[in-house]
Amino acid sequence: MERIAEYAERLGLVRLPEILGSIAEEAAREDISYTDFLERLLSEESQAAKERTTQALMRFARFPFIKTIDTFDFSFQPSIDKKLIKELATLRFIHRGENVVFLGPPGVGKTHLSVALGLLAAEGGNRAYFATISEMIERLKKGQADGRLKERMKVYISPKVLIIDEVGYQTLDQEASSLFFEVICQRYEKGAVILTSNKTYGQWGEIFGGDSVIAAAILDRLLHHSTTINIKGESYRLKEKRRAGILKKPNERGE
Ligand code: ADP
Ligand code: MG
Repeated sequence: MERIAEYAERLGLVRLPEILGSIAEEAAREDISYTDFLERLLSEESQAAKERTTQALMRFARFPFIKTIDTFDFSFQPSIDKKLIKELATLRFIHRGENVVFLGPPGVGKTHLSVALGLLAAEGGNRAYFATISEMIERLKKGQADGRLKERMKVYISPKVLIIDEVGYQTLDQEASSLFFEVICQRYEKGAVILTSNKTYGQWGEIFGGDSVIAAAILDRLLHHSTTINIKGESYRLKEKRRAGILKKPNERGE
């Protein structure tokens, strides 16, 4: 047993020493063949390795919370085509390097659905990375200041899918706009982007301080191979407050 544990460690088989005893006992009890015994061991080891990879990918992705498509209440948000979300959940768009844009007011589930897709990607063994646009810009600006832009850019360029959250809440200055443009350009037709925004495309000029040229250039690349999901409903957060009796229904306020 000791020698087996040593070999296992050398080979990086971390699960094997933990399960060898019980699987060996099970094998003796059930009188299974040597090959069946080996198969059971290897299948456990490979399952454990897969779980470790998924865990690492999840940590790497920096999701702000863990939410899934199963926990999304589509009946509350009828403007979302459930079939379209199911299609996105196949992750074909990620393998094709296409983009998904969620547009809509606060609280309608843009981040929830983005994270859910990112999570599926990570579970499928893909590198996903989540950042709000302000985090991304802040780090890239820092990179520019300390001469490590290329290195920092890699964080946003190399993942298979990049989630850029909350585009539009803050106006971007010229430096921020061109850094954002750089990220979109470098990922164009190579890596998928999932983006959320509270602004309609028509309002995107405002995000770039009225620079409609850069807005158009970014949208041009972003939307070339993409799916836009326009969410028109009510905030889920407010619904929950309403249910708790903290807020009144809109019609009760006389609106
Ligand atoms: P947004 O990013 O559009 O502002 P979020 O995705 O952060 O909104 O949603 C706000 C909160 O409400 C989150 O906790 C999210 O999980 C939840 N939520 C939003 N819409 C739904 C929904 N249709 N079903 C279940 N939970 C939802
Ligand atoms: Mg959000």
